[in-house]
Amino acid sequence: MSTYNSKSLIAEEFISDTEIQATLAYAQENKHNRELIEQILAKGATYAGLSYKEAAVLLECDLPDIVERIYKLANEIKLKIYGRRIVMFAPLYLSNYCINGCRYCPYHGTNKTIARKQLTQEEITREVIALQDMGHKRLALETGEHPVYASLEYVLESIKTIYSIHHKNGAIRRVNVNIAATSVENYQKLRDAGIGTYILFQETYHKPTYEYLHPTGPKSDYAYHTEAMDRAMQAGIDDVGVGVLFGLNLYRYDFVGLLMHAEHLENTYGVGPHTISVPRIRPADSVDVNEYSNSISDEIFKRIVAILRIAVPYTGIIVSTRESEESRRQVLEIGVSQISGASSTSVGGYVEKEQENTSQFEVNDDRTLDEVVNWLLDLGYIPSFCTACYREGRTGDRFMQLAKSGQIVNCCQPNALMTLKEYLEDYASENTAKKGEKVIAEEVELITNPKVKATAKEYLQELHDGKRDFRF
Ligand code: SF4
Ligand code: SF4
Repeated sequence: MSTYNSKSLIAEEFISDTEIQATLAYAQENKHNRELIEQILAKGATYAGLSYKEAAVLLECDLPDIVERIYKLANEIKLKIYGRRIVMFAPLYLSNYCINGCRYCPYHGTNKTIARKQLTQEEITREVIALQDMGHKRLALETGEHPVYASLEYVLESIKTIYSIHHKNGAIRRVNVNIAATSVENYQKLRDAGIGTYILFQETYHKPTYEYLHPTGPKSDYAYHTEAMDRAMQAGIDDVGVGVLFGLNLYRYDFVGLLMHAEHLENTYGVGPHTISVPRIRPADSVDVNEYSNSISDEIFKRIVAILRIAVPYTGIIVSTRESEESRRQVLEIGVSQISGASSTSVGGYVEKEQENTSQFEVNDDRTLDEVVNWLLDLGYIPSFCTACYREGRTGDRFMQLAKSGQIVNCCQPNALMTLKEYLEDYASENTAKKGEKVIAEEVELITNPKVKATAKEYLQELHDGKRDFRF
């Protein structure tokens, strides 16, 4: 049994099982304590965030009026900090070779039925051109863990290739990377390669379950995996993305673990996670989802997203195409700020659509990017392809300071409109372009800073005239 210490560098001290159990008991005791809940909601309404303990009480509370107020507050915070903007991205699977034994993932090393593939640099070029031709500017690279077929050198070379490709007006301007936990030295190499966010999901914070789910391979080392973000931060990567795979373990436990991890990073390095992903387990080859009896309902999923929005107001929340159109619509309202669109979860799947036998999971939302953009516009959102912060050096605490002071809105809003304009000019269908132009014309008038508004208008005109890549 280890004592909880949020600044410790030892996994079992900053994610303390004893502390999580105590937090869950406290939440259970107080789930109908209206006085306490009022205090927590009042704190949330100041945009100061919540502790994992406070968030756990909200998650446990099932009083219908309070649940409604949680949604309302999450919606208000979302609108105040993120406006109607939704950042778009796509995953790019480079290699599905893997030496790990994760029981929930079809890429596990002993799965003999899945086709294995590692993209060559030429194939990556073709995939990236296909993604650019859809309009994507921001990618999340995905690989299994393999010393030969997914080596760090291969990933670094691939990043270089991706940034170098400019097909027509296309460009990938931010490459986020989701690869296995590695050493400080390797994280430094990733930082030097110009990655955006380093993403690594914990899957579950519950150690015995983690060890059951990861019986073999380097990922079976709970501490090495859990301490990966510390090594990444020590290596100078200051935008990190965390997440758990909901459905693997008791969601309450992982919810508290996730927020404990965020507090640890904030307290130790002065900056919490840049993003939190909330994947739920999906059917896939060689994975029996029925084995995971802890899968969460849509209602609980929505509540988790809303409370995360209140607890960590300045951390982006991401949902992928694992979620259906309807589920994505619901969580966009109460917290999600980034979504993937037109994703292929197979290796080489953007060029050869039929490659489903290499895929990591079945997508639930298989619309084209244009359909997703059109849908977002119909729902009143502003689809954004912005990648400006990382390119302007606004990462880590520099980004958080701007976000917390509210000044970031002077960048996000015009950048969203300008990158949407690029999308409309270069890739949109006629119908999407019409809707998008209307939104741009209305929204540009809502920019409050007169200087920013005037410059944004100039840039929008220049984009129409054929120039590209303006940013604040
Ligand atoms: Fe490999 Fe990642 Fe799948 Fe585990 S989750 S088997 S590490 S690709
Ligand atoms: Fe994100 Fe920065 Fe662009 Fe805002 S300006 S959308 S925070 S990259």
